[in-house]
Amino acid sequence: MTPRFTHLLFCALPLAGCMLDAADDAAPLADAPAELTGANVELYTWYSPSRGDYFTTTDPAWAGSPGATRSPDYRFVRVEGHILGAAWPQEGTTPLYHWWNPTRGDNFLTTSSAWAGTVGTVRSGYTLFRIEGHVYQRPLMDTVPLRLYWNGSLEDNWTSADPDYSDWTPPPSYVGGGIQGYILAPIDRDQDVTRDQLGWRTLTRNGVAAIGNRPLFTVAIGFSDAPLPSTACTTTTALQFGATGTTIRGYYDEVSSRRFAWTDAGCFTHVATDVVGTTPNEGTLAGSEAAGNESYRILQQALLAADTAGVDFARFDTTPRDGQVQVHELGIVAMFARDVVRERGISVYLPRSRVWISGEAAHLNLNATFAQRAHEIMHMLVATSDEYGSGFHSEGLTLMSATSGGAGDMRTWYLDPFLRMRLGWIEPRIVPRGMAGGQFPVDAAQVGVGDASRAWTRRPVLFQGPSNAEYYLAEFRNSAKGGYDANMFTWENQTNGFAVWQVKTGADGFPITIPGIVITPGDNGRIDATRAGDDVFQDSNGDGVVELVTPGPDRALQTVPAGDDRYWDDVLMFVRGGSNGQRGFSSLLQPQHGQRSYYGYGPVYLPFVMSLRAGAPSADGNRAYLEWGDALPRLDWTGSATRDVTFDVGGAFGASQRGRVVSLYHPALGNRDVTVVSWEADRLRLRVPSATVAAGTYTLRIYGDATRAAASNGLALTVY
Ligand SMILES: [Zn+2]
Repeated sequence: MTPRFTHLLFCALPLAGCMLDAADDAAPLADAPAELTGANVELYTWYSPSRGDYFTTTDPAWAGSPGATRSPDYRFVRVEGHILGAAWPQEGTTPLYHWWNPTRGDNFLTTSSAWAGTVGTVRSGYTLFRIEGHVYQRPLMDTVPLRLYWNGSLEDNWTSADPDYSDWTPPPSYVGGGIQGYILAPIDRDQDVTRDQLGWRTLTRNGVAAIGNRPLFTVAIGFSDAPLPSTACTTTTALQFGATGTTIRGYYDEVSSRRFAWTDAGCFTHVATDVVGTTPNEGTLAGSEAAGNESYRILQQALLAADTAGVDFARFDTTPRDGQVQVHELGIVAMFARDVVRERGISVYLPRSRVWISGEAAHLNLNATFAQRAHEIMHMLVATSDEYGSGFHSEGLTLMSATSGGAGDMRTWYLDPFLRMRLGWIEPRIVPRGMAGGQFPVDAAQVGVGDASRAWTRRPVLFQGPSNAEYYLAEFRNSAKGGYDANMFTWENQTNGFAVWQVKTGADGFPITIPGIVITPGDNGRIDATRAGDDVFQDSNGDGVVELVTPGPDRALQTVPAGDDRYWDDVLMFVRGGSNGQRGFSSLLQPQHGQRSYYGYGPVYLPFVMSLRAGAPSADGNRAYLEWGDALPRLDWTGSATRDVTFDVGGAFGASQRGRVVSLYHPALGNRDVTVVSWEADRLRLRVPSATVAAGTYTLRIYGDATRAAASNGLALTVY
């Protein structure tokens, strides 16, 4: 990435606004990630319609959040990010000067050397009243550009890091957009694109979110020629609600971050006597969703029998109490002594309880695997959402993919972060567009489920595509951490790594089906010429109709017989995996993969490429770093160094060293290399060799590569 640092000034002289105390404050912010505390201060923007004035400051007296207002009529706009406090200058940073012109009513923030000065300096009607802090001059890890815009009719300067605007797409009525510097992105904030816009907690049933408790009623159904064991209800109840071991209640408790729980509403045993045919085997009814098929009809009878026997179903008719027990009020497990695995609606009137059951039920058999049981029960929360992926390639990574297995199979793995986000069970960590690149500590999905469920590091990282309708969700998975992800698996038999999910949705935020490859083998030259993994729109066969084509190796497509057109749709979402970012392969991203690129297309088919690298799991396996893009490292702190003794440096350094060089710079001596003892994403362990470095004061820098063409910011370091 080419460093950019420009001092564009559009308004030779603006004016300004509201007088403020010039006090600097380097206090850490309570809600800031730990990495950003200390020397950093938050930069807030406000707007006054009467003055036509945008006002941006780090003054803690103007700390704010959406909805806040201040006299005379300033309203809070956004948090721009974090900058270094005024007391913390570093090499590679520059002061952010704040000027005010009372005639124009204009606040004006700039890093231009033409507007350098000290507090009290007067120039062209403006007074320099405050130095807000220091901003980076180059795009370092986790930073976004801070830009300056100008509105001539309002005579207003506006400094903003809003990713919706840039020098080629300035805000309406404003011009400019010159970069004043780079600031730490407000990735802990939910403001420009909100979690709500991206579908957080929008997956409801009858408008009711899956939060809190919900009763689950079980009906065990035997047949004259396939009797239930006498323990059917006790074993099922133990499996679903037992105090120990692998249970349905435990699974939902954990994957929901303790926000949702099934509660035991009882178990009723029924023997079906009026069976049409020999079996309610769902396989013989494949494709039939109509009421009237056997398992549906038998369940109706079983519920009627339970009602007759005195089970009170009216107690489930709660929200609202309208004579109907719906899916958001009651879950039903129908467990057959025959081969049935499916979830479907159920409607029957129960005269004794005087309610309609107008809900849904998971149809299962006695041998259902744990994952099948959890999957079919999940349908009562997520409706028709299935995420098999083309060729079932998301199997083992989400509950809503394939769940095959033999009798007694108790393996468990998580629900994907997309559905967990849509259910309101986990918040996404939204990465702003326009970020220079960065790194993210990510906890394994099952780590810290309880009180820490809202913790920043637990949230999946959400990388936006060109629109809100396409994005990636990245999560760290580690089966070794046990819990309900203990049996997570991939086709490559990986035990940990980053799962990267690509999501495409319609305008309403709901997922769309992503068409699969349409290939006529033997006549696919044009398709193969396209980069694998790219979704492209093209007229593949010259018939004048443009198709969405996903070129590349969607598993064995190249080997189908010539003339046999084949495709698989990807329903809802899919895992991006293979070494070239193709779909159709559920590989987790691991350190040895180096940089892996993920390709996508937005609604207007503008391509975007996201490159990621994985860091190694921490020693305890709880966490790993995900590095995104090609930003330069950022140095945050260092102590003093004694030659030949290791010392630590904090900052953001990337998932691995990969060619970067750590140096001590001295104006007279030039660069002296420092020995890297260990390279971690947030900590370097270094040693200054006495053979080549004399005691003295240097500037510690990290260069992007051995050419030393681009450097991080620099920290003063005294070497003894
Ligand atoms: Zn399903």
